[in-house]
Amino acid sequence: EQAEIGLIGLGVMGANLALNIAEKGNRIAVFNRTVEVTRKFYADAGDLQGQIIPCETMEDFVAAIRPPRPIIIMIKAGDPVDQQMELLKPYLSDGDIMIDAGNANFRDTMRRFDHLKDSGLTFIGMGVSGGEEGARHGPSIMVGGTEDSWKRVEKVLTSISAKYNGDPCVAWLGENGAGHFVKTIHNGIEYADMQMIAEIYGILRDGMGMSASQIGDVFGRWNTGRLNSYLIEISEKVLKATDPISGKPMVDVIVDSAGQKGTGKWSVIEAQNMGVAATAIEAAVSGRVLSSQRVERLAAEKILGLPQGQRAPQDGMAFLADLENALLAAKIGAYAQGFAVMAAASKEFGWNLPMPTIAKIWRAGCIIRSGFLDEITSAFTKDPDAANLIVTPAFSTMVKETDGALRRVVSYAALGGLPVPALASALSYFDAYRRGRGTANLIQAQRDFFGAHGFDRLDGVDKHHGPWGSGLATLS
Ligand code: NDP
Repeated sequence: EQAEIGLIGLGVMGANLALNIAEKGNRIAVFNRTVEVTRKFYADAGDLQGQIIPCETMEDFVAAIRPPRPIIIMIKAGDPVDQQMELLKPYLSDGDIMIDAGNANFRDTMRRFDHLKDSGLTFIGMGVSGGEEGARHGPSIMVGGTEDSWKRVEKVLTSISAKYNGDPCVAWLGENGAGHFVKTIHNGIEYADMQMIAEIYGILRDGMGMSASQIGDVFGRWNTGRLNSYLIEISEKVLKATDPISGKPMVDVIVDSAGQKGTGKWSVIEAQNMGVAATAIEAAVSGRVLSSQRVERLAAEKILGLPQGQRAPQDGMAFLADLENALLAAKIGAYAQGFAVMAAASKEFGWNLPMPTIAKIWRAGCIIRSGFLDEITSAFTKDPDAANLIVTPAFSTMVKETDGALRRVVSYAALGGLPVPALASALSYFDAYRRGRGTANLIQAQRDFFGAHGFDRLDGVDKHHGPWGSGLATLS
């Protein structure tokens, strides 16, 4: 019996995805560049061996799959994917579908999609979130490609995806790069969410002098409330873990430098390309950059010292409530920005991205999964064309309830010299977004002064340059 689907690349993600596919009753053919990896994978597959066809040549692999053949490529992102596609291509026939499930840049996905356009083959760019555990037991899956190719894989992907109250966390989001784009923004939001939690941790640790396990307790309580989410849940767990070597809290022995692989940075670059302010996501990416400059930071602390005057807040309990609300407010800002970037890209690339569906398939399986995304789903279902999440009825109410707390927390951190770039940028974003009369009139005047750029007048009078000719003279 031929396989329903094939998979190339039995690394961490590919192996787990293949086992998930097999376990859900789908027959799968697998291939890996290094043959020993395929053998070991099959040997370790236990009860699932019956569903798996291990293949050692490309020819056997392709022959083992029922046409039209969906083939998942789950290998190192970048050039390896192009190389693998070229190696595979000669064995395929009309209607076969190559599915890149790695963390591709969506612009590469669009190029690959176009490359295959007139070849009879098609391409799907598929974002998979949830890490190793998600791949094995149910990831969130974001699909981009033609609707026909989606129909061919819909059943298998639905069977392996995470479920939120029975709803599968997989959807076709649009043509070509739509799936990988949405995965990229998912990761950008993930960066912001993690950064904001880390900033709150910094206030609890350095402002309030709490221990790791005490902070873990705080997060544990928050996880039963409106902040309920996977990231808060794992934060509690990591804060309560003990280092078996030193006996200290695990987090206290970990170097404070965070790595990144590119999707956060791509989110920020694309936000700028689309002309959307994604300030909280930018702050999170820059936060990781600064974190990685540890040697410089240690040297700077010697030269500049730490700001003095940090006081514990007068009413600890009230301040804890403020921190909880501040984190919620800032999180709303970050998600609103992520969705705004997706709305702009949807227009630019003609994807027609379904915002309520995106929020829906992020409710389970992925790293940013949370009850909060259910609220975003409702808000966008009621108002799919909302200009911004923060002006929908439900979220504008939430912002009004919580932004005072964010203001107090950011002020406290600023006075105490505790860095809160993502929290502060979310606050400034709210303040700028909702202020009808901003300050760019001055910038327009400056631009007209030095570059004769012209400006629009509030009164509509048809006079578009200032009377600052004499100012130009004093410059020279
Ligand atoms: P890696 O990114 O380390 O990739 C390992 C696999 O890639 C191996 O099967 C390897 O084959 C294969 N490979 C590498 N170079 C080539 C090549 N030139 N030609 C053919 N095959 C090649 O493994 P992961 O499982 O971590 O990630 C796979 C993809 O999934 C990546 O795009 C990653 O970004 C993405 N991803 C990862 C997540 C995670 O949590 N790790 C989460 C979501 C997505 P060989 O055995 O022969 O070396």
